[in-house]
Amino acid sequence: MKVMVCVKRVVDFNARIRVKPDKSGIETENVKMSMNPFDEIAVEEAVRLKEAGKATEVVVVSCGVERAQDTLRVALAIGADRAILVRAENEVLQPLGVAKILKALAERESPRLVLLGRQATDDDAAQTGQMLAALLDWPQGIFASAIQVDGDTVNVVQEMDEGTKTLSLPLPAVVTADLGLNAPRYVTLPNMARARKQPIEMIMPEELGVSAAPRLKVLGMDTPPARSGVQMLPDVAALVEKLKNEAKVI
Ligand code: AMP
Repeated sequence: MKVMVCVKRVVDFNARIRVKPDKSGIETENVKMSMNPFDEIAVEEAVRLKEAGKATEVVVVSCGVERAQDTLRVALAIGADRAILVRAENEVLQPLGVAKILKALAERESPRLVLLGRQATDDDAAQTGQMLAALLDWPQGIFASAIQVDGDTVNVVQEMDEGTKTLSLPLPAVVTADLGLNAPRYVTLPNMARARKQPIEMIMPEELGVSAAPRLKVLGMDTPPARSGVQMLPDVAALVEKLKNEAKVI
């Protein structure tokens, strides 16, 4: 069973987010970039499926700028076998455009399972996996906190407010990874050095016959208003005093 994992290069979760001066988006120049954390979980799961003898090949794919190669190399270091970068240098990529590219790649690669993150931490859209499943007309199991492949079926456990729900999907299927699915392994230096030597296939969206042109326009982006400062109190008595005399019901 071939598994295709989709990984996005996003601003590192430790980096400070800055809005561009023209408010058209967030600053990505001179900011630390990393693999979207949910995608790291998806890669880890695919590699575990391979280690368990359920998957035969793990192909990682990314759509974006040339530097997204670094992200793909991290996936190779975790244990993916092959990497493909769809170069979209000048294009503003939105979930539908990405889903169209990923559909074309899925048709070319014929995976039995496509894994994505539940959402990208930059746009928080949580749309690409769902759109990809719809375009492919494949079943989807989103926000997976456990996956079990059994023959021609994948069982996907989702966490709900009331407990868990288990879906049984016939393969091929699209699954998006939630935080609880696994804890990704630490990427070791020797594995990273090995990954640096592995080739990465580069494709242009036109070669896939896809237009990823944006369909939505971002009108503006702003930083949230500054919060008023936090006051440290010396003891519980001071807290009770404040609650009694200053706290207001809003
Ligand atoms: P989103 O719908 O933007 O929140 O992204 C959900 C998931 O889709 C991500 O966690 C990735 O697995 C995948 N994805 C989104 N954008 C890209 C991209 N440019 N390249 C590859 N995968 C992507």
